[in-house]
Amino acid sequence: MKNNLVRTRYAPSPTGLFHIGGARTALFNYIFAKAYGGSFIVRIEDTDIERNVKDGINSQLKNLAWLKLFPDESLNNPGSYGPYIQSEKLSRYKELANKLLLEDKAYRCFCKSSDLQKQREESLNNGQTPKYSGKCRNLDVTEIQKRILDKKEFVTRLRCEDKDYIWTDLIKGIISIPSSALSDIVIFKSNGFPTYNFAVVVDDYDMRITHVLRGEEHISNTPYQIAIKEALELESDIQYGHLPIIIDTNGKKLSKRNLELKQFIEDYKTMGFPSRAIINYMCLLGWSPADNVEVFSLAQAIEAFDFNAISSSPSTFDFKKMEWISKNYFQAMGEIEYIDFVTPFVHIENSLFKKNHNFCLLMFKDQISYASELNTLVGDLFDIKKLTKKDVDAIVDEFGEHTVKTITDFRTNIKKIDDWNVDVIKYIISDFCKESLIKGKNFYTCVRSVVTTKTSGPELFKVIFLFGKESTLKHLKHFLDTAEVKKAKITNVSKAAK
Ligand code: GLU
Repeated sequence: MKNNLVRTRYAPSPTGLFHIGGARTALFNYIFAKAYGGSFIVRIEDTDIERNVKDGINSQLKNLAWLKLFPDESLNNPGSYGPYIQSEKLSRYKELANKLLLEDKAYRCFCKSSDLQKQREESLNNGQTPKYSGKCRNLDVTEIQKRILDKKEFVTRLRCEDKDYIWTDLIKGIISIPSSALSDIVIFKSNGFPTYNFAVVVDDYDMRITHVLRGEEHISNTPYQIAIKEALELESDIQYGHLPIIIDTNGKKLSKRNLELKQFIEDYKTMGFPSRAIINYMCLLGWSPADNVEVFSLAQAIEAFDFNAISSSPSTFDFKKMEWISKNYFQAMGEIEYIDFVTPFVHIENSLFKKNHNFCLLMFKDQISYASELNTLVGDLFDIKKLTKKDVDAIVDEFGEHTVKTITDFRTNIKKIDDWNVDVIKYIISDFCKESLIKGKNFYTCVRSVVTTKTSGPELFKVIFLFGKESTLKHLKHFLDTAEVKKAKITNVSKAAK
């Protein structure tokens, strides 16, 4: 169903950097808007001035662009419903808060924040939900005038009606919040800024937002937002949908303080994840297409979007799963695309690497989940230690009595190669295995251990090609020279035993 009146928004507060939770909210709003041919709006909610962080706005906008979630309207590309940042709209909020004061739907509260804090703590200690006592609810007009003249600080509170708030949530179904859970909420602060709940309602209305999709932690704000909307008599049929919370693999709510878990979009960008993979993985945080296919593009997600398929139970953020999704994207890339993508992330000062740059990187194309992984993988390849006597003995012990003969014969075959290229080496290896009947681990792992000093790595013929003829022969010879000592020893021991 197309409905170009659909207008969704992502409304980050720049109190932190762009995080997986925020990005998931942005993504679902984007997908929903695009699925209906509507508009996706980004609005900066910066009214909590003490908590705003440097680079907070930039981190949101820059990384949204990296994810290619381009807003139809935002601070950088304003439409007709701006400003797109709340600090530039203070007079509008003030005007509406004053209107509510005039209509006696709101009142001035002169209570000191230290007293309110004390009451809060007392309620919590008694196991009760903290609520405003209502002390200033019915202050006498002359008393109010006097306090204003005395320049006493005040906040503006909405007179909350004694009624339950019920709405049909697009994701959670019917939600009902009893009046007993609500109290007169602050809508305007003493510092001249509106509160989050007040500004959000004004902006969602001013910007003609039709659907609000946001994290479940905002469910408790929704009745207040409905109450504010009703008090302001704003006519809108805005619908709310609350996305499931994101938990970690231990079942705990994702916390930005958990530094062990990479959760910031900037981190993934720096590590060299393709943004398409991150988008794909974030789609799975709460929703999956009906056919259970897990790897899909943003366009496919938009095509398949269905509210009924969004889960209302917690979504688990599993970094390993994200790596797996991302691996699929590297595997699907063309070679040129892959090289172009990963090259800026690789910083290896090794002449052999520089000489065989693309070849080295391509060796790991099917293996990596993010580009900077290549620094370790390629780096390890060149980190070759000379085999010690102990290493050589261990190799002979592991691969058996034929080891020395295998390496001797293989060396003879390698020596014969004139035209050093991957195809020839590949052929020589398979021919050798066929002729000698030594195969599998006894050939591949054995030769790899001798040539690379490692038991695993990229395909053997590629590694041998990369190291070059001279170096490969040198390693094979070193092994044989060292193994000779062992052989000699064994012979002497068996002679002595006779
Ligand atoms: N500024 C709020 C936040 O960052 C937005 C909440 C909402 O979407 O209403 O959590």
